[in-house]
Amino acid sequence: MFHVEHQVAKCDLITPRFVINPTTRQHLNCMASAWEALEGLSVDDTCGEALSYQHCRARDFESPSTLTPGALRYTDDTAMALGILECLSLFKTIKQDALAWVFAKNFKSDPDRGYGKMTPRTLTQLSEAGSWRTISASAFGTGSFGNGSAMRGGPLGAYFSQDLGQLCAAATASAQVTNFHLEARAGAIAVAIATAEAVNCRHLPRDEACASIWQSVIKWTPEGMTLSALKLAHTFQSGSTADEVARAVGCGHEIFCPDTVPFAIWNTCRSIHDFTEALLSTIEVGGDCDTNAAIVCGIVAAYGTDAGIIRALACCARKSPCHRTETMTPLAQTTNCPSRN
Ligand SMILES: [Mg+2]
Repeated sequence: MFHVEHQVAKCDLITPRFVINPTTRQHLNCMASAWEALEGLSVDDTCGEALSYQHCRARDFESPSTLTPGALRYTDDTAMALGILECLSLFKTIKQDALAWVFAKNFKSDPDRGYGKMTPRTLTQLSEAGSWRTISASAFGTGSFGNGSAMRGGPLGAYFSQDLGQLCAAATASAQVTNFHLEARAGAIAVAIATAEAVNCRHLPRDEACASIWQSVIKWTPEGMTLSALKLAHTFQSGSTADEVARAVGCGHEIFCPDTVPFAIWNTCRSIHDFTEALLSTIEVGGDCDTNAAIVCGIVAAYGTDAGIIRALACCARKSPCHRTETMTPLAQTTNCPSRN
């Protein structure tokens, strides 16, 4: 954000004809915040994917920086979050027709990003000029409540952090394009609100910031299974372990919002001050490792934790072509972790 303001001020001094109006200046600052959240999201998405089959030994990597660029590969979480930023950069809001087109375009050009089972079908239908409303609402009969709506909520929350009401409307709109169910809307809102409050509470100590995050998440998340699980997760003290909470509320084995978002929010608040701990403790419990990690570190980055590491890894992840985790050593050569189920 400072960088943007600095550049604007410098530009004003040298070439007064190019003064940026306040609306554009605010948009640029909001985009800068959204990019910070995206960088955290993409790093943890990438690391979560790389370590998912050896999640119980995630701590054998002493630092995320030990992952080699050739082993890093972002997944659908980052791909769809990039779609959110594409839409925001063009329209400064979520236009559902445009977002559906962007998601479909990005999927068609780069389909091998680990999209879930239903999403490729939905995005393929969208690319054939179908109505997103009809296609999304009919998925699974009642609309999907998969965690795809939540995993892309971080950058959205960072962009609209100054207006939580507007953010909820945007989160709902962004969810509905592919995940029409009310629980998908709840998951998107919860993650977006948590990220927005992380931005707003950057100047506050960890405990105060997390209290504000929890308060707003529970206030703004609509009634349903996701909110019930969020309230249950909130009853666990900060001294509890990630594994205890994952066992109580799930950690994405079902890839639904209700069994993904509550653990992610809880573990974010437990380790929001420590990027590496947030990353490794999230991956370590298993479940939907890349999505859990993407949600957690999108929020951690929005709070401003360890931006240097995040930027370095995000740069590697974006430059990296598709690689399978078999290229990794030494964990890829070990036996896979047992499933929690
Ligand atoms: Mg993924």
